[in-house]
Amino acid sequence: MKKWLLLLTSSILLYWPTMTFAFRVIIDPGHGGRDHGATYKNLRESKITLQVSKKLANYLNKDPRFKAFLTRTRDSFVSLSKRAQIATQLKGDLFLSIHVNASQEKAAKGGEIYFQNQLPADEESMFLASIENNGLQHGQHLPLVPLPSSLKPDVQNIIQDLYRTSRLFLSAELAKSIFKTWKGSRKSTKYTIHQAPFYVISHVPMPSVLIELGFLSNPKEAKKLSKTSYQTKLAQGLYEGIVNFKEVMDSSQKKQYITSNANPKKTQ
Ligand SMILES: [Zn+2]
Repeated sequence: MKKWLLLLTSSILLYWPTMTFAFRVIIDPGHGGRDHGATYKNLRESKITLQVSKKLANYLNKDPRFKAFLTRTRDSFVSLSKRAQIATQLKGDLFLSIHVNASQEKAAKGGEIYFQNQLPADEESMFLASIENNGLQHGQHLPLVPLPSSLKPDVQNIIQDLYRTSRLFLSAELAKSIFKTWKGSRKSTKYTIHQAPFYVISHVPMPSVLIELGFLSNPKEAKKLSKTSYQTKLAQGLYEGIVNFKEVMDSSQKKQYITSNANPKKTQ
């Protein structure tokens, strides 16, 4: 079996909900309340992220395969640690944090998708993470999965490591899937998907990505981002990305059933 296929199937066995349950998607609208995030004229990142997140939740909740939850539903301040805590308590299967970018460079445009970094991040990603993290240290650790204490420490370490690798792998797959169905303005592939130490996506135990919808610092893009029709388009693209990701994973899971007759279990 190819190495990536082995990783894919083992990741699914660790993380995948049994197919009869709705897939729980936690949507995190960035900023809110006293924290406006990026601003341009009278536009606020915190408002745009909430509008797009609500639209995405609507798409998902109309589809019986999904159940969407928001970490905030109004213009209120929610700390980053609280957001991670909400996602963990809700036992999400996926976590998407929604943001809007800003740059000194007026011409910068297009969506960006980040997943938690394991490799050293480039300087630009580190800078963006430091802004979005709002002074919080990202830390290098990932949440540990609860395991029976009867297991020997070295066995526990191996299992935790497998979880970390699987979670990272699925996050990367989700980022690729969202890139495929992206309906907003684009950069080239090379510059769209990155790894960076954002606090929220590093502190939830489920596969997670952070999405920058576009640049508020680019006057043309700011105008688009403020429009309901563009926000709907963005939400639709995100929804399709999640659907596509789930379908690929479900079909791999079915194959796994047939080939190994294994019993996938939901461990969270
Ligand atoms: Zn932000």
